[in-house]
Amino acid sequence: MTTFNDKTAATSLTGAKTGQFKRLRRMRMTEAFRSMVRETELSRNDFIYPLFVVPGIKVRREIKSMPDVFQLSIDELVKECLEVKSIGIPAVILFGVPEFKDEVGSGAYDEEGIIQMAIRSIKREVPDLVVITDVCLCEYTSTGHCGIVRNGEIVNDESIELLAKEALTHAQAGADLIAPSDMFDGRVQAIRQILDENDFPNIPIMSYAAKYASGFYGPFRDAAESTPKFGDRRSHQMDPANSSEALREVEQDILEGADLVMVKPALPYLDIVRMVKDKFGMPTAAYNVSGEYSMIKAAGRNGWIDEPRVMMETLTSIKRAGADLILTYFAKEAAKLLR
Ligand SMILES: [Zn+2]
Repeated sequence: MTTFNDKTAATSLTGAKTGQFKRLRRMRMTEAFRSMVRETELSRNDFIYPLFVVPGIKVRREIKSMPDVFQLSIDELVKECLEVKSIGIPAVILFGVPEFKDEVGSGAYDEEGIIQMAIRSIKREVPDLVVITDVCLCEYTSTGHCGIVRNGEIVNDESIELLAKEALTHAQAGADLIAPSDMFDGRVQAIRQILDENDFPNIPIMSYAAKYASGFYGPFRDAAESTPKFGDRRSHQMDPANSSEALREVEQDILEGADLVMVKPALPYLDIVRMVKDKFGMPTAAYNVSGEYSMIKAAGRNGWIDEPRVMMETLTSIKRAGADLILTYFAKEAAKLLR
């Protein structure tokens, strides 16, 4: 006999037997109820704000394909960091655009390089802000590739030695956390080793552990001036079609010494974020990349979507998928809304 009795419905999870239903709407009727049963809550502490550093003084140049995001000279960068700190964002991640590029990306591991100087300036003026540095060569090589190219091939072992050198100069300049983004094999181990040998055993590593060869990086390459001159990054970044491979990549980085692991991009790979979080239980970051940002900005500017609402929904979805930390160009706007 069918009844509309809640007591019997409660015996199964949804009470979805024929003719019975549960009034799930009850707890959605008022904002007070909704906020009492809300499962995912964004916090300013979740955000890491990416910044692009360029040579010069008083440079504050908006990136055409990324509205409200700027290339900043070091003096402007410090001002930006003061603001970031004042609105309650705990960390920034730095990307450098050097004055000169060469085949071996020597600007990346120059003690007087753009990032090394930027770190020292930020640490002097905003000592409590966590400074994370992206470690890769693509912004510094004349080829635009993430490593050394020999006979048309991006070589692994020689490149990771340079990445380790780069990481060490960042640590020496005062970086709080090192984030290798290259996706070469063995880089986390090489970086851990050089940091330990040079008295930096307490500097953690956040590896870009599952980084996909993605079309969503387009606007970033304008910002970091790092478009490859030939070929692409498919020989080291992952195939978008793969998920079990992502778990092998993440596992390898953890075994090599990663303290935090990252999935990049975020939105098209929320399933990977969830799998990584569930399988390894590590502090997990997701990078809400430039293309994801620019699409929302563009639609917002056209009046096609309610931009702040879509921004918050997007960031919430990344956290709901399992990310503890979100690298996002929306950090400042979102933090202001959360205040
Ligand atoms: Zn790279």
